[in-house]
Amino acid sequence: MNIREKDKEYIASTYSRFPVLLTEGRGAKVTDADGKTYLDLGSGIGVNIFGYADAGWTEAVTAQLKKLAHTSNLYFTSPCAELAEALVLRTGMKKVFFCNSGAEANECAIKAARKWGEEHKSAEHFNIVTLQGGFHGRTLAALAATGQEEYHKDFLPLTPGFVTVPPEDEEALERAVKQNKCTAIMLETIQGEGGVIPLSEGYLRFAERLAKEHDVLLIVDEVQTGMGRTGAFYSYMNFGLAPDIVTSAKGLGGGLPIGAVLFGERTAEVLTPGTHGSTFGGNPAVCAGALNVVSRLTDAFLLEVARKGEFLSSALTGAKGVRCVTGRGLMIGVGTERPVGDVLSDLREEGVLALKAKDKLRLLPPLNITDDELALAADIIKKVCAK
Ligand SMILES: *Cc1c(COP(=O)(O)O)cnc(C)c1O
Repeated sequence: MNIREKDKEYIASTYSRFPVLLTEGRGAKVTDADGKTYLDLGSGIGVNIFGYADAGWTEAVTAQLKKLAHTSNLYFTSPCAELAEALVLRTGMKKVFFCNSGAEANECAIKAARKWGEEHKSAEHFNIVTLQGGFHGRTLAALAATGQEEYHKDFLPLTPGFVTVPPEDEEALERAVKQNKCTAIMLETIQGEGGVIPLSEGYLRFAERLAKEHDVLLIVDEVQTGMGRTGAFYSYMNFGLAPDIVTSAKGLGGGLPIGAVLFGERTAEVLTPGTHGSTFGGNPAVCAGALNVVSRLTDAFLLEVARKGEFLSSALTGAKGVRCVTGRGLMIGVGTERPVGDVLSDLREEGVLALKAKDKLRLLPPLNITDDELALAADIIKKVCAK
């Protein structure tokens, strides 16, 4: 059997893979088994922040691998402490819990919010208000937080304690917070999987104010929008919001699995010994890579991300066959007149890999993609959209 046949035979059929077998990459370029090279505007769904085989990141991970790959959380190790410090210094949050994925980070945030509600309000204050079109992961509580029925069916009953309201409807949000015994509001600033739909600054500020007024927590899911993706370290920083809990994953590890939950002043002490844990969480090799990522997301670098994002967005805005361009920084949604599946397959023909989100093309290129690569990508996307 060749690789594709083996994959089909032995791997559970949850993924509909693109017909490409990738073998190696460097920066934004990746090569398949037939020797064809692509420009990758998906970066492993926003994970490979510095592209494939980045020298600094690879060096940081391998140096740590040669010393200690794993210890468990029974012992102190340096990389996770250094990474937590770096995240706290960069955000002003107070404490960090490490896990292994976005869904797990959200599970931890949900547990922490429930415990906070019980301790600060009452045992009945366990409800979390989430938004339609949101995406928070595939585990059962994260799925219940995900306001999209298509992901729910077949897995009922959902974990109770979630109230879903339509985004951008301030009255609905206020009603949900008032009429249910709530502990938190949970949202993404740009709904990624939901179609690269940015929430307005006014709505985000309203949600923050409402959370304060009603003494509930604001949880911001930065799993996709974080790590410089939108031109700010975390996207909530574009608006100067002050969330109580921030969840992070995808790009944080730069290519290895990690999730992080950041706790602010009000929630810093909510998790106590034995209340949560993870065998792999804070793994030294993964944290060494993440520390390399975080240390390179300087203000100057983030300005470059914003500039590159504006270049790509304006190159595509108004182009023939392009209905709309949404998003921020290097998180870009492109509404196309042609079906997005056709656009993706024509892009592959032309040597460009990209993603979709609902009916849009979704672009999450590595943040260090070069100007020449972006210009080439824009030309190819315009050509394919205009077909
Ligand atoms: C991808 C994603 C998740 C889930 O992350 P996993 O690492 O796949 O569990 C959660 N929230 C958002 C906003 C995401 O984009």
